[in-house]
Amino acid sequence: MSYRDDAAFWACPHGQDARHGCVTCFEESASPDVELPMWDVAVWFTSDQPIPVKALQDVHRHGRRFLLDKLSAPHIYLLTGHARAERGAQAVAGVVGFLVHNRHVVDAFTVKDTRAVRLAPSPDVPSGERVWP
Ligand SMILES: [Zn+2]
Repeated sequence: MSYRDDAAFWACPHGQDARHGCVTCFEESASPDVELPMWDVAVWFTSDQPIPVKALQDVHRHGRRFLLDKLSAPHIYLLTGHARAERGAQAVAGVVGFLVHNRHVVDAFTVKDTRAVRLAPSPDVPSGERVWP
């Protein structure tokens, strides 16, 4: 996979870079608009400050469909979640937007890699097949 560094590719509908997160996308991704496809999103990021274990565990409580895990490498975390969005970039913006929206969990962070998989139901896309990027 080539990790694209293309501003237009990463731009969400509100003009934010998906890798920096967008709170509007985060809020819209939770809307029950069944017209939009559901995405399974994973975001690897580093945090300037270690995230307390309790904060990690609390994420799924107030973050609905989000899970935050600490990886074995220092300060590297994996956030996974579901988002409704037109495009993969918008889905990523919504999940990273969760971090922006929850500054009490993680203050300063840097997104290292992302993955967005469009989930079924969709007639053309079998469940779990990777379609983006
Ligand atoms: Zn947005």
